[in-house]
Amino acid sequence: MLQDTSKIRDREFEDALERAFLSQLDNNDGAVADYIPELTKTNPSNFGMAIATTTGHIYQVGDVKAKFTIQSVSKAFAFCLALEVAGPELVASRVGVEPSGDPFNAIVFDPQTNRPFNPMVNAGAIAVAGILYEHLGEDSFQFMMDRFSSAAGHQLDLNEEVFRSEHATGHRNRAIAHLLLANDALAVPPDDALDLYFRQCSINVTATELAWMGATFANMGTNPVNREAAFDLAAVRNTLAVMFTCGMYDYAGHWAYDVGIPAKSGVGGGIVGVVNRQLGIASYSPLLDAKGNSVRGVGAFKVLADHFGLHAFDCTNVGSSFIASLIR
Ligand code: GLU
Repeated sequence: MLQDTSKIRDREFEDALERAFLSQLDNNDGAVADYIPELTKTNPSNFGMAIATTTGHIYQVGDVKAKFTIQSVSKAFAFCLALEVAGPELVASRVGVEPSGDPFNAIVFDPQTNRPFNPMVNAGAIAVAGILYEHLGEDSFQFMMDRFSSAAGHQLDLNEEVFRSEHATGHRNRAIAHLLLANDALAVPPDDALDLYFRQCSINVTATELAWMGATFANMGTNPVNREAAFDLAAVRNTLAVMFTCGMYDYAGHWAYDVGIPAKSGVGGGIVGVVNRQLGIASYSPLLDAKGNSVRGVGAFKVLADHFGLHAFDCTNVGSSFIASLIR
């Protein structure tokens, strides 16, 4: 009798995802971000994970419909848009691509260039928001929303309360923006760059939507289901490289060592990971470690990466080819 292999594949994904999820479900370490009051209102026990494939399938477990703010995960997608809109030379003149090893909100610039080290720390992300505002002006947030929504496969919305809270309390980010202006890394008024940056951080997503955004990166910038071209092909390559080296705050080195896929995390509790040409993986759990990464998310990604051999340099080479043979 012929076996329906698609069912076996589905089960393999579901089982692996569930195993990764269950391995962290009882882990209550970490704390919800409290730098703005709005974020403390999150339910700390929320936990969801999703895997979206470039062939258009989705696998989900837990609280995958719970909304949370994208926060720093937006930095990767905004950088990708800036590369497309302004071109890599202009972007390179404003922000570097070196890991800094410093916390995300450090007020530190590359001593050689006076530019932010990379677009995944706040200083670099505010410079990137400045580039987008410089090129698109008042339309820049709508442009970002449209592209993010194409990638997510769903119309996203803004969390107004979080935006207002970020805006009211973001004095450190304001200081960074003024230093960027002083260093010629910003060509628009700091308030315009900051308004866009605070808004982009306050976009609501679910784990499912974030997985599709990751799958859109994995699929060379085109959402695998709606076929909308959300990101430019060349810009995706450059963005994945920066995510690989700088995406997990000052844990990026450990992450590359242990998990070995490009990823970006945010203090809202989200992590997106990309297995190039194959998968977008997202986790959401708002309990953060001291570096700002979701505790359960990091743990679950490790289990999943080990299970499938996702690490880019997996010596047994079952990794990518193994997944490729599974996805349909
Ligand atoms: N809105 C946050 C900030 O700029 C983002 C922090 C994060 O997710 O790393 O402080």
